[in-house]
Amino acid sequence: MRQRHKPWADDFIKENSHIVIPNADENKGKWQTLFQNDQPIHLEIGTGKGQFIAGMAKQHPEINFIGIEVVKSVIVSAVQKVLDEELKNVFLLNINAKDVRDIFAENEITTIYLNFSDPWPKNRHEKRRLTYHTFLEQYKHILHPDGEIILKTDNQGFFEYSLVSFSQFGMKLEEVSLDLHALNDPLNVMTEYEEKFSKKGQRIYRCKARF
Ligand code: SAM
Repeated sequence: MRQRHKPWADDFIKENSHIVIPNADENKGKWQTLFQNDQPIHLEIGTGKGQFIAGMAKQHPEINFIGIEVVKSVIVSAVQKVLDEELKNVFLLNINAKDVRDIFAENEITTIYLNFSDPWPKNRHEKRRLTYHTFLEQYKHILHPDGEIILKTDNQGFFEYSLVSFSQFGMKLEEVSLDLHALNDPLNVMTEYEEKFSKKGQRIYRCKARF
């Protein structure tokens, strides 16, 4: 996601430290305490500008949501949505998701969303794909045994790669949709990328997988 540099982003993030939680690792195993309830926690990795997480949080006040987004000039848009909608069930983390085991305790997360993750198509970048086995090892640790990973993408290559990676890791595929929008799922909350690509006529793929 190419973004113009926003020199004010740092200050804006600091001013909203009740939403963009600093020193995330200090809350490992205590996220429900921070939310002040015992609702399940869903995690989105690569939240972007926050359309999905804000939409989901509004649709599901009975769930807590945490979004991880590494780019400051992008996460600020997600913060603004949380403020505008006055959402109390969303925290954002401005970090790289490569070490989620340091942020969440075993079984602390109920669902992980990977929405339109960067596909990193070159073989030499395979390790960066969010469905590479080193990431799956971490997800397995933080995800509750009944939990699931829900992946959406427009990228056929990344989708096929992820299905193979899940299978090779011994995961069970619960749903594989090659044309999500043909299902007319009224509960599907679109991400920014999903809206953009589906408007161009591109198919959206979705799968749900469990360890
Ligand atoms: N999920 C959004 C959507 O569907 O509209 C954004 C998709 S965009 C292609 C991928 C986003 O993931 C970017 O904003 C990028 O900065 C973020 N991202 C990629 N790798 C990440 C990582 N390791 N940790 C945190 N964020 C990451």
